[in-house]
Amino acid sequence: MINEAIKYITGSVHDPALAHPKLPKEIKSKVRSTKVIINSFKKVGDLYKYLSRFSNNLHGGGGREMYDEMSKYGLETHESIFERFKEKFKYEVNDFTVLTDFVIGETYSSYDIANFAGTYDVRQGIYLVGKEPNYEAIFSKVTIGNDTGYPNAWIEEGTELKHYLKASNNSFTDKNLSWKHNRAFINSQENNTPIYIYIKDGTNCYLQGIFKYKNFEYDVNGGIYFRLLKADIEDKRTEITLEAYNEDLESKVKQASKSSKIDRLARLKNAPKKPGKQTIIVSGYKRNPDVIAEVLERANGVCEGCIEEAPFIRSKDDTPYLEVHHVIQLSEGGDDTVDNAMALCPNCHRNRHFGVDFKSQ
Ligand SMILES: [Zn+2]
Ligand SMILES: [Zn+2]
Repeated sequence: MINEAIKYITGSVHDPALAHPKLPKEIKSKVRSTKVIINSFKKVGDLYKYLSRFSNNLHGGGGREMYDEMSKYGLETHESIFERFKEKFKYEVNDFTVLTDFVIGETYSSYDIANFAGTYDVRQGIYLVGKEPNYEAIFSKVTIGNDTGYPNAWIEEGTELKHYLKASNNSFTDKNLSWKHNRAFINSQENNTPIYIYIKDGTNCYLQGIFKYKNFEYDVNGGIYFRLLKADIEDKRTEITLEAYNEDLESKVKQASKSSKIDRLARLKNAPKKPGKQTIIVSGYKRNPDVIAEVLERANGVCEGCIEEAPFIRSKDDTPYLEVHHVIQLSEGGDDTVDNAMALCPNCHRNRHFGVDFKSQ
């Protein structure tokens, strides 16, 4: 559908303009560059947002002059086709890019970023997404080790970044700190604004991760840089145990089940498709392998709970799949001995841990 939408605009506005014998060169060059932008869209809703800028007489992208000149020659303009576009693609105009479409580890084009941020200018390095002062996100395209004398660099590869602030001609003064884009970094801490760091390689922008602002520092040349730390590194400081994690998840599932289906579907629609990562601490007992081997031999492929054959054969070593369970849990002071252990099929094993029949254990 996006191809059809793009063709509708380029076919009615750009191509006739470029083919027109009298339209001035300067205007044609503006037409050409807006055509490049139009062609870069991936969702109809994003394209619609771009076109909307022309509907309210702001004459974005090409400006008033382009509109006036093209109208003079009776050519269609972004402005003149807007209402027709809206009607023709009314079922798709709500399909636009959202923040969660940007996934860590994926590569995006400069257009993807500029179009999402709504500046439509691929030359920018820093994009403020959303409205000041509570931005939805900060996107920064970072070149590592460029030759300006103020190279952005990893303090720690992939996780801690020396990110030079926005300045003109690489001359840094404290005044730069109050510039809108730099202020957004500094305020991100308080506003909880995620900083998306894209590592630039040619026109490709690799989403390295979501970072948090720590502080700004001066280097030996008087340059000012932000120290950014990957957000999940920060999360590491709040590591949790597997038990606490499971308990928390369970209570959240309970809550999710209780909330209305409409609410849940709405949340699912906007949820990130790829889960975030978290460090979970697992501390276990050092179990005696002889106990496991001995109990498995005793069971001889038959579950000691339901006295049925093991449900399947392990692919690793072609032995019957059974799990060795402690009758009195090790965490409750049980012994790691053959007498306190039994070989169970997965159903019986889960039943013993979670089933109503074995609640007292
Ligand atoms: Zn069983
Ligand atoms: Zn068990």
